Amino acid sequence: MKEKISAIGNRFFNAENMPLRLVLFNIVTSGGIVGGNISLLFTVILDIHIIQTFTILVSLLVMYTGFYLANWKDRMEWAATYMVGVITLILYPVVFFSGGGVYSGMGYWFAIAILFNFILLDGLRFYVLLVLQIIATVSCYAAAYFFPNAVTPLKSSAAIIVDMLQSMFILSLVIGVIIRFQNSVYKKSLEKIHRKNEQLKSSEESAERANKAKSEFLSNMSHEIRTPVNAIIGVNQLIMREANDEKIVGYSTTVESHANWLMSIISDILDISKIEEGRIEIVRAEYEICPLMIECYNMIKKRAEDKNLSVNIYLAPDLPHSLYGDVMRIRQIISNLMTNAVKYTEKGCVDVEITGERKNNTFLMKICVRDTGIGIDPENIGRLFDKFQRFDVGRNRNVEGTGLGLHITKTFAELMGGNISVKSEYGEGSEFTVIIPHEIVDGTPIGEFEVTEFAEKKSHRKYTRKFIAPDANILVVDDVRINLYVFENLLKETRINIDRALSGTECIRLLRNKCYDMVFMDHMMPGIDGIETYNYIKNMPDNINSDIPFIMLTANTLSGMDKLYISNGFSDYLTKPIDYEKLENIIVKYLPKEKLIMSDAEVETSEIKTSELSQKSLRLEKLCRLIPEIDVKSGIAYCDGSEEFYIELLKDYPSDNKKAELQKLYHQKNWNDYKLAVHSLKSISKTLGFNATGNLAEKLQYASENRNIGYIDRNHPVLIENLSRITKKLNEFFS
Ligand code: ADP
Repeated sequence: MKEKISAIGNRFFNAENMPLRLVLFNIVTSGGIVGGNISLLFTVILDIHIIQTFTILVSLLVMYTGFYLANWKDRMEWAATYMVGVITLILYPVVFFSGGGVYSGMGYWFAIAILFNFILLDGLRFYVLLVLQIIATVSCYAAAYFFPNAVTPLKSSAAIIVDMLQSMFILSLVIGVIIRFQNSVYKKSLEKIHRKNEQLKSSEESAERANKAKSEFLSNMSHEIRTPVNAIIGVNQLIMREANDEKIVGYSTTVESHANWLMSIISDILDISKIEEGRIEIVRAEYEICPLMIECYNMIKKRAEDKNLSVNIYLAPDLPHSLYGDVMRIRQIISNLMTNAVKYTEKGCVDVEITGERKNNTFLMKICVRDTGIGIDPENIGRLFDKFQRFDVGRNRNVEGTGLGLHITKTFAELMGGNISVKSEYGEGSEFTVIIPHEIVDGTPIGEFEVTEFAEKKSHRKYTRKFIAPDANILVVDDVRINLYVFENLLKETRINIDRALSGTECIRLLRNKCYDMVFMDHMMPGIDGIETYNYIKNMPDNINSDIPFIMLTANTLSGMDKLYISNGFSDYLTKPIDYEKLENIIVKYLPKEKLIMSDAEVETSEIKTSELSQKSLRLEKLCRLIPEIDVKSGIAYCDGSEEFYIELLKDYPSDNKKAELQKLYHQKNWNDYKLAVHSLKSISKTLGFNATGNLAEKLQYASENRNIGYIDRNHPVLIENLSRITKKLNEFFS
């Protein structure tokens, strides 16, 4: 019996695997059927009008057929409409008039019918039936009121009371059962939702954990790969430096370009993992547009030349001299777009335009990179900035790429408060535009600036040591042995004495016992890292190396890192893979001058007549010692490699007369003539290698052009002071 009941329950009332509407229909209809049968019983007991008995029988028949249609024929909507319609619009009025009218339980039955309509029907059917039900009910009551004779009254007051009570109980039961059922379904649904939520939460957590693990893996892998690639680039640099055979140099150049390519892929992967983890930080600092554009141009120059593409770079003359922004990210954006333009263009040109709008102290920089390349199919434009998207793979089979560059570019632009857009004509070319807001640091316009004029001219850097320092002692600290090997070999021609340490602890031990002139320290080391080692040494009692410069060696090229290292007490930093020219420059800058013997043969490019400089020039050595900031190399390069000519020109370097003239024009506020005077000073200073003075003169030229008197007032005395110092030193040199 119990099993039968549960089978019936499962078949008709199981809300878990049946539509909820059908279960409700079954509850309501079975309630109606039970109620109908009870009423039938009462009509017999109370000896009610035969018509009523007959009508109840018909109602039962209607409900049975409805039940059948809904459960066996899958026509629940129709069954409900038919039941509610026939019962309320036809049968109820008959029962009403034959079974006591107003003085009976029919009021409750009309209510049940309206309730059924609410529960079982939807949409238009519901509204139409509701209106009809109301009309039918009101009509019945109105007719009973106006034509009382039309109603067959119940036989006694007791019959009226019993009829009312049984109808009321049936209505209460139906409502009660429905509410109970709804509650239990609701409770079950809530539990289900709760369980689902828990499941979702735990799968979300495990997805998050997996994603984090993936990002960490990518980030670790990139760091791990970076170390051997740095070593490859380092050792390859040694090969390129030392090889005399053109063929070997050729092989080595290929290794270099592929290693650099690998490095850029690693950087992209690292960036993507940081983007996914939300760890990208924008580090703003002061920077200048012109050197940045020279760097970007240098990065793609060779590749564009190999493909015979002309690259035109236009910097609007009114661009501010220096800005406040994340130069590293901006460099990545510009070089990504320029590299793509070159990669996806076979013939024609690549145009780069940097323009912008000033508003008070802000500058909306607009970077536009246009090419005459393959263009982008309009249907791919929507996915262009998604990760790992590469298009026209067939056509671009030989073009390397990961599909990450544009995604990274867009993310960086947006993180800096800017945006990127693209216009492209398939087969004709593309134009990418990035807008990045900046703060202006020095609004002096840069003026006409030809980036290509400043591009690196040399193809293969032929190594010539800059100096020798046989009395100097340098300590280099790195946990990767090959890095120490590369470092040592990059400096072997300089005859510096180099000690190596493989850890911070070893470094501390060596510094306790021996005096050094400089320390090069790796940042990321197991155990105590570079900064911790430095702090330990600085606080060491009886430190015999308390005043020596520490240079940070880092693979971390983030902007703002220089500030971090310097604020931690380091004198400077060098990025890995170490560039030997930068390494030598930094040693020249920080090594005690008496230990440096400068070599004049440093001027090495192919365009320079190295033969004239092959013998060590004592004069130049003296000059560098007297005026450390002088860039002899570029000075001699301007003089077509002739040291003699250079020395001759130095004799004519603006003397006290020029200084007096500048002072006079400044005090007269004769800005037109002042501009001309600083302009000529700029040219000669840069030509002769007084770069800092040349740059300052250039800025003063812009300032006088734009009547930026505040800037002139602040910087004119600095220029005069520079001139005095240089003139004094030159006099000393020539005396
Ligand atoms: P990739 O490393 O493949 O160059 P990017 O994210 O930089 O990755 O670019 C995604 C895709 O967009 C490229 O594979 C290429 O199909 C298309 N694309 C990007 N820049 C250009 C362009 N200047 N001209 C034509 N197609 C381009």
